[in-house]
Amino acid sequence: MHKKERCALVIDWFKKNRPLVQTELDYTTPYQLLVAVILSAQCTDRRVNMTTPLLFEHFPEPGDLAAASVEEVFELIRSISYPNSKAKHLVGMAQKLVSDFGGEVPSEVEQLMTLPGVGRKTANVVASIIYDKPVIAVDTHVFRVSRRLGLSDGKTVEAVEKDLEKNIAEADRGTSHHWLILHGRYVCTARSPKCEECGIREWCRDYLRKNRKLPE
Ligand code: SF4
Repeated sequence: MHKKERCALVIDWFKKNRPLVQTELDYTTPYQLLVAVILSAQCTDRRVNMTTPLLFEHFPEPGDLAAASVEEVFELIRSISYPNSKAKHLVGMAQKLVSDFGGEVPSEVEQLMTLPGVGRKTANVVASIIYDKPVIAVDTHVFRVSRRLGLSDGKTVEAVEKDLEKNIAEADRGTSHHWLILHGRYVCTARSPKCEECGIREWCRDYLRKNRKLPE
C-alpha cells in the first residue's frame, strides 16, 4: 500500500472516531501556549499543567517574564525536567519577544525559531495551534507512530515531517499532529503498544508484518 493511501485511511479513521482533539496543555493566550510548549520538552503535559498556573500568575505577560531573573523563574519551575536551562530559555525568549516582536508571538515558523528555547517542533506546534498554519510538529510520539504505521520511513524528524506534509492534506495537518501524539501516548506506546485495542491496526505496516500479512 502506498504511503499516501495509508495516510488517507488512517486520517479518515481518526476523523470518524476521534473528531474532537486538542492539545492537553492548559493555556489561554499565545504567550502562555509558547511557554507551556517550551516547558513540555521531555516532560509530561500533566506536570507542566501543574506548574504553569503559578508561573502565569507571577508573569502574566511577556514583559513580566522578560524582566524576571533566571533564579526567580527557576524556583517556580523546579519540579519540571531541565529547570535550569528552561528558566534561561524562558527569560531569553520573553526578552526577544519584547525586543523583536513587540511582545506578540510571531506567526511564522522561521520567526518563532529565532526565540531562545524554540526549536522546529515547538515552532510548529505554536504556528499550527495559534495561527492554523498547515505544518505538522513531529515529536517522539509522532515520529514513532508514523514509522510503525508506515506513514514514513524517515530516519530523522525532518524526514518524517516532510513525508507527513506531503501525504496529509493542508486542512488536516494541525489535527493530525494531535491524533498521532495522543495515539502514541495512550495506544501505540513506546514499550508495549496495545495493538489488539488499536482501531487502525488493519492499515498498520508493523502490525501486518508481525502477523505475517505483509512481507518483512
Ligand atoms: Fe501501534 Fe500496534 Fe496500532 Fe500499529 S497496530 S499503530 S504498532 S498500536
